Amino acid sequence: MTRAWLLLCLSLPLVGQPKIDWDSQKAEILRHYRNLIQIDTRAGNETKAVEYIRRVLETDGVPTRTFAKDPARANLVARITGNGSKRPLLILAHTDVVGVETGKWPVDPFGAVLKDGYVWGRGSVDDKPVLAANLVTVLLLKRNRVALDRDVIFLAESGEEADTMGVGINFMVSEHYREIDAEYSLTEGGGAEIEDGKVVTMGIGTAEKIPARVRLVATGTSGHGSVPRLDNALIHLGAAVDKVGRWQTPMRLNDTTRTYFEKLAAIGTPEKAARYNALLNPQTADEAQRYLREHEPQAYSMLRTSVVPTMLKAGVGANVIPSEAEATLDIRALPDEDIAKFYAEMANVIDDPAVKIVPLAATRPPSPASRLDTEMYRVLEQVSRQIYAGVTVMPEMSTGASDKAQLRAKGQQSYGIGPASTRGDRIDFGAHSDVERLAEASLYPFVEFVWNAVTEIAAK
Ligand SMILES: [Zn+2]
Repeated sequence: MTRAWLLLCLSLPLVGQPKIDWDSQKAEILRHYRNLIQIDTRAGNETKAVEYIRRVLETDGVPTRTFAKDPARANLVARITGNGSKRPLLILAHTDVVGVETGKWPVDPFGAVLKDGYVWGRGSVDDKPVLAANLVTVLLLKRNRVALDRDVIFLAESGEEADTMGVGINFMVSEHYREIDAEYSLTEGGGAEIEDGKVVTMGIGTAEKIPARVRLVATGTSGHGSVPRLDNALIHLGAAVDKVGRWQTPMRLNDTTRTYFEKLAAIGTPEKAARYNALLNPQTADEAQRYLREHEPQAYSMLRTSVVPTMLKAGVGANVIPSEAEATLDIRALPDEDIAKFYAEMANVIDDPAVKIVPLAATRPPSPASRLDTEMYRVLEQVSRQIYAGVTVMPEMSTGASDKAQLRAKGQQSYGIGPASTRGDRIDFGAHSDVERLAEASLYPFVEFVWNAVTEIAAK
């Protein structure tokens, strides 16, 4: 090779996935992650994190744009462009965190304190690991001049926890969708589980239930509390709440939940395997469901559109029969539920003309499940096995709702990912817990996971 050729080759961008020295990358990962936690981004302060991210990206020559419906709650977009032969990949994370009760924290909730191998702080789980991993991934794409087949779009969004003002994903989807239009998106809503010090399962969020809440409104004749009346609104409401609360709504599996229970059966104890397999067989499903209803309510909810009474409102005085009484039902529909038909079935169950079902305004659009047969899902499976040897990868349907709903409704195949934690940490120190923390040792493989997934799906 001549000297001229050699110089030419050296000046060309690197092709494919450069080798990252992850050990030497740790300090920078931890610094950004901790800095982001130390920025108090409770609702209304998201722009502070956006300013930090903008500074970091622009220092490395990555241009950014911000979009704000409320100047204190900006969203930031950065795009690393590819050759356009494939449609973009969107990596997003929310900057806002939920509130804190300071007295319950053993450390400063915004200190990002390093103690006992953990990083402690509000947002240390939800959602600053994803935010930091996405940020570092974009920096590394830029520094290593990775040649891409598709654009990689970075989005830091505000107002995920409660977007009552429509400042975050709703604003971006309705006003600036062109900026975040993508074939695939990756964000929070998945994660790996550690058992006996080893990562055993990796859950990829592929679907979520759709909030479809209603009020039940019972009406009757008002009057004096000394005179019993059969049309007392409270009696009718009480009976209706009892019926819907006990109603075993129809069970229906989809691709995600069927695969999920199959995988659980494959790795579980013989007892668990028998139970999950029973669920997959129509002859035995009923008894298996009954068990889950009592012992594994989360799994039970994944099988159906669920109806949960959450609020009651009636009465003005101990001696007054009110003419109206109402209950709120938190209904979470399966992704493919025909909700009008479901309400009609519920009316049959209640079977009382004195009780009306009044749907509440939708908080999320109906969103189909993301597919398990896409290139992106296969990459996530493969990368999970690369990073966590011997892991079982399974798709998961969240019983809650996330910003993936808005993206799926726009046609994106959107997947939930996250770092590894023990079941105990997830329950006691997870998202929205009184105290939040993440094992520092879980942070680095997660960043590597995101990097591998992004380069595998997007690099030339
Ligand atoms: Zn979150």
